[in-house]
Amino acid sequence: MKKVLVSGGNGFLGFHLVSWLQSKGNEVTVVDDLSTSKEVAFNDGVNFVKERIENFETSEKFDYVIHLASRPSPEDYSKNPVNTLLSNSIGTIRMLDIALFSNATFLYTSSSEVYGNADLIPTPESYYGYVNPNGIRSCYDEGKRFSEAIAMAYFRQHTLDVRIQRPFNVYGPRIREDGLYGRVIPRFINQCLSGNDITIHGDGSQTRSFLYVDDWLAATKTLLEKPGLSGQVLNIGSDREVTIKDLAERIRSATGSKSRISFTDRRIDDPERRSADLKNVRRILAWEPKTSLEEGLSKTINWFRERME
Ligand code: UDP
Repeated sequence: MKKVLVSGGNGFLGFHLVSWLQSKGNEVTVVDDLSTSKEVAFNDGVNFVKERIENFETSEKFDYVIHLASRPSPEDYSKNPVNTLLSNSIGTIRMLDIALFSNATFLYTSSSEVYGNADLIPTPESYYGYVNPNGIRSCYDEGKRFSEAIAMAYFRQHTLDVRIQRPFNVYGPRIREDGLYGRVIPRFINQCLSGNDITIHGDGSQTRSFLYVDDWLAATKTLLEKPGLSGQVLNIGSDREVTIKDLAERIRSATGSKSRISFTDRRIDDPERRSADLKNVRRILAWEPKTSLEEGLSKTINWFRERME
């Protein structure tokens, strides 16, 4: 039994991680301000503290400290930039200090956003990024970049066991299903199931490489637990790029929807292409994404259907 602290443990990724941690008999504390959740999702038995992570105080010690708390969706974080930066700066330092005091393993959930509008596709961890430092996405991109820097500073200066993951567009059941919230897969599914237009930003030629949440969890477990990975930074994603237009058509066909496609303005600073170079993660974690987009979408659509009934 380990004692685990998870910030943002009520979010989409947090829920899946916390459920697994609990199933292994660990004692889990979740700190979450519920700013982007619609309801408390995890099972009984979790110690839940409703608090912003930068205000969280504890004298307890933990074996694992996992920092997930952040607004994750571009349309949402660009409307809440201060809050987003605080979670990914003071919040990160707060979690690092708890990890240091505990002599814990610290896992930071960074993002493929640290690469910005990358011109090296698929993008390896060694790519430094092409990021607008003060644009509307900067609250997230630069917050994640700062957090990586401070986590590595604790690793170098205090020899804290720090592990950093960069997830790429993870999706699956329990992703927030109201399309207003912005992320593309839940929004398109929602639009298709309700017969509304599918809103493609721009001409839909931009790409993403989507990772099903079970695959994300499998990699995350190993990154957390495998000995000898201190100081490691790894992409956790997919290298199977799809255009947003292709995604819209796939979701329309998988839902049997008659929704029309409408084209709207492209988001500012929207990355053109995104795909993960998986060489390091394959070698270091002996991991491979297993779920095809077709299968993952079908499972996610089923979950949406159940919610909407
Ligand atoms: N997108 C879209 N229509 C929508 C929502 C998103 O065309 O209604 C596009 C968005 O502009 C971006 C891609 O889908 O190019 C992925 O957006 P998402 O919000 O899922 O996350 P991102 O990968 O940009 O962080």
